[in-house]
Amino acid sequence: MIPIPLRVDDLPAVPGAACAGRQPLWDDHIHGEPDDQREARHHRARAICSRCPALENCRSAAAVLDRFATGIWAGELHDPHARRKSADHTRAAS
Ligand code: SF4
Repeated sequence: MIPIPLRVDDLPAVPGAACAGRQPLWDDHIHGEPDDQREARHHRARAICSRCPALENCRSAAAVLDRFATGIWAGELHDPHARRKSADHTRAAS
């Protein structure tokens, strides 16, 4: 089975989510987006997460989803591209 990465707004079970309807601010990557703009976007998302009433529920959901979570969840970046690169690097080194 191929894992399907989930964005936080794919989950209806995070009531009060401050990010609801405000994607793609929390997306991990946007095609063609320069790195500095991506960093600034994630900084804005993290600031909103820090005041979100659903923060603890979101953190718990991200922990359960583990590698299926993608984008910013509870102020933390879940980046499948970085995980893939890391896995490739580990395989190449062994
Ligand atoms: S903590 Fe952040 S990612 Fe999680 S529901 Fe709130 S705004 Fe969305």
